[in-house]
Amino acid sequence: MDLKKKKRSSSPEEDLSAGKRTCCRKTSTTEDERCITKRSRSPEEHPIDGKEEKRIRVDTKTPPSLSITNYRLMKELGKGNFGRVMLASYAIKDQLVAVKIMPKKNGKEFKYVRGEAQVLQLGRECPFLCRAFTTFQTQSHLMMVLEYARGGTLESLIKKQKNMNSQKILFYSSEIAVGLQFLHAKGIVHRDLKPENVFLDEQGHIKIGDFGLVCTNTVEHKTLSGIYGTPGYIAPEILSEDPYDAAADWWSFGVIVYEMATGNLPFPPERNLKHHLKTIIYEKPRYPKSLGPELRDLLQQLLKKTPDTRLGVYSNIRDHPFYSSIDWVKVERKQLVPPVKPKMRSVAGLCNRNIPFPKEDPRETSVLENFSYVDPSWQE
Ligand code: ATP
Ligand code: MG
Repeated sequence: MDLKKKKRSSSPEEDLSAGKRTCCRKTSTTEDERCITKRSRSPEEHPIDGKEEKRIRVDTKTPPSLSITNYRLMKELGKGNFGRVMLASYAIKDQLVAVKIMPKKNGKEFKYVRGEAQVLQLGRECPFLCRAFTTFQTQSHLMMVLEYARGGTLESLIKKQKNMNSQKILFYSSEIAVGLQFLHAKGIVHRDLKPENVFLDEQGHIKIGDFGLVCTNTVEHKTLSGIYGTPGYIAPEILSEDPYDAAADWWSFGVIVYEMATGNLPFPPERNLKHHLKTIIYEKPRYPKSLGPELRDLLQQLLKKTPDTRLGVYSNIRDHPFYSSIDWVKVERKQLVPPVKPKMRSVAGLCNRNIPFPKEDPRETSVLENFSYVDPSWQE
């Protein structure tokens, strides 16, 4: 078994055994061309530790939202294989945003970035998905300007709360469920659903994020393949290298609910990764006695090894007795009151920060076509 932890091992196109291409939103080519014509910035705009001045390729005609000169980096929010996520301030609107900065790596990651950008653009249609305000590129970097989820991640909330009561589980899981159902209805499978990729906004509502491993255009194509995700959250059919579909996300959802309820994973990590993965494929999780009967049944229905019999696939999760007190219309309208008001990450003291953008690589020649995007709410 060749498990690639959070690695983009094959292209989304390769994932679709039906041979279907992932679809991507078309925008005008000239926008991207505009973004990569040359213009250097003054040292005042982004001083670089007394070293040589960076050259950023942007055109004077570029709309302000697509020019990195209008973003001031203040602090790192996260770091990964892809690059970095930075807290930034957008000068034109004086608004905090999260900027995901990815080196182009000679175009190696372009297919994944396309899928990610496509879903981030859909974010404006569902309140429980992280959305992009703009996406654009410089000579050697791809930039995604995202709404800043100021309340941290569900992962840190679970760590703080240890095991949550039913009221909290109901709130968080119902908002995630609405977000997931929205994605699945559009033919999108997330493939890396875990508390670290579920953010909280400043009121404490959910934002599903990190669409770097999504598979798009999956409606009526039940046969995705390739091992993607994070051990502990990956569905058994993926680990068995069987064809899989959106049911895999419902497994990961079940793992998250289990974690909220108990503070642990249903299959806790082991020293021997192979053994850990075999446990996920073949063994049953332990359900602590403290779980109420409805919550226990919900978990049992979600953590079914056979995907076609899993809750979320064979029947609508909204109809499960655990959610009998939930008004789903209110959930969809974001009208439930969050049970925890997140402790806001302070930005005091960051106002004068101006971290330099990563250096441009003059040898980078790849261009991701049709990547420039501005959300309608972000137009000047
Ligand atoms: P890796 O490939 O290493 O797993 P990643 O693909 O998981 O990285 P993201 O999950 O998108 O990248 O971002 C990494 C971290 O940055 C997140 O776990 C979160 O802490 C922070 N982050 C990302 N987007 C936002 C956002 N919109 N608002 C606030 N924080 C964010
Ligand atoms: Mg992530």
